[in-house]
Order: sequence, then C-alpha cells, then structure tokens
Amino acid sequence: MAAMRTVLAAVLGLAFWALPVSAQVVTKLPTSDKVVALTFDACEAPNKAAYFDHTILDYLEKEGLPFTMFPTGLFARRNAQELARVSRSPLVEVENHSFSHPMHMERLPPDRVASEIAATDRLIQSITGRKPIFFRFPAGNYDAATLAEVEASGHRVVHWTFASGDPIRGLSPQHLEEWVLSKVRPGDILIFHINGRAPATGTALPVIVARLKARGYRFVRLDEMLK
Ligand SMILES: [Zn+2]
Repeated sequence: MAAMRTVLAAVLGLAFWALPVSAQVVTKLPTSDKVVALTFDACEAPNKAAYFDHTILDYLEKEGLPFTMFPTGLFARRNAQELARVSRSPLVEVENHSFSHPMHMERLPPDRVASEIAATDRLIQSITGRKPIFFRFPAGNYDAATLAEVEASGHRVVHWTFASGDPIRGLSPQHLEEWVLSKVRPGDILIFHINGRAPATGTALPVIVARLKARGYRFVRLDEMLK
C-alpha cells in the first residue's frame, strides 16, 4: 500500500511538474457562437527567404475578411513595407511567431527565448505601430519552462484547434477544403500559411470561407475574442 502511494505520488508529481497551473495554450475561442478565427503563419527561418502569398492576401483584402497574422521577425523585416500597408487595415491583427523560427524553442537557453520574443515585438511594433499580445510557438513545440517564459513576457500563447496541414507537399485544394470543412466547429482557430509554402491554400480558402458563410459562420480576429 505504501509502495502504491509512492508510485502514485511520483506519477502525480510528474503530471504537476509537466503542467504548471498558470500556463495555458489557447486552442479555441471562448464561445459557442458560429465564429471562427482565420490565422496565417508567416514563417521565415534563416537563409530561407519567404514572401507574402498574394493569392491569399489579395483574396482576404478583397473580401474584407478579418484575420490574424503570425509573422516571424525575419519575415516581418524582409516584408516590412507590405506588412506596414496590410496592417493599416483595422481588420488585420499582427502577432508574434518568434524572430528566427527555431523549431524547438524548448531546447534554447532562457535568454535566447526572451530575445526571440522581444526582438520580434520591437520590430512588429516599429512596422505596425502595435505591440503583439499573442505568441505562437514555431511548429507548436514547447515545454512548461518555455511556456512560463512566454507568459512572463506578457503574451498569451495561441495555437490552433486542428492543423489544416496546408504546408504538406502535394496537398490538393480539394483535400484541404474537405478536411477543414469536415473538422470545423464554432469557436475554432484555423491555421494556414501565408508565406508561399502552402500552394493549395489560395485556391481552397475562398471555397472554405464561402461554405462557412453559408453555414452561418462569421469571422473574427483573435484579439476581439481573447482579451
Ligand atoms: Zn511557423
């Protein structure tokens, strides 16, 4: 019995260590209304120049759809003029996706995690006039310590409800449409890529949006729903 209690305590202790009570990754909007957030990562890692996918961007702007972008600092710096123009719309929200897109921020020393966040905040604020309030981990990878560090920097971590998989090589627009439309529920945070690495999205997005509108959905920015 004592041995059993020891084992239980060890297991529970491990669970508590892995899940600090304060830290929380948002993966869903707090509503049962028919709303979804369209979010677009604009990833750029060192030596992999990336630019706006204009099929997607032109569509979003032409339709007047609210959306949230998560550029890395490298993408924001490379596309600063266009990001400044895009962000002038009150429909567009720009948040923080690290500076150089390290695939495993949980393996970085704490000071590097802090500088990835702070440098991107400073750059985005200088381009858009607004300091990011949300952070999204590159590739969604984190641990309790990095999560706590991001929260201590004053950002909430916002990920996604389900992966669209839009960077998957060879993915057809039809598959992307069917997958997203079969999964989506009220309050979902949808994730796509607007950095030219998701060629199916430009074709699929208008279909997805039209079908969701037909189902009675409307679209929101994250900062409208997550105060
Ligand atoms: Zn990314």
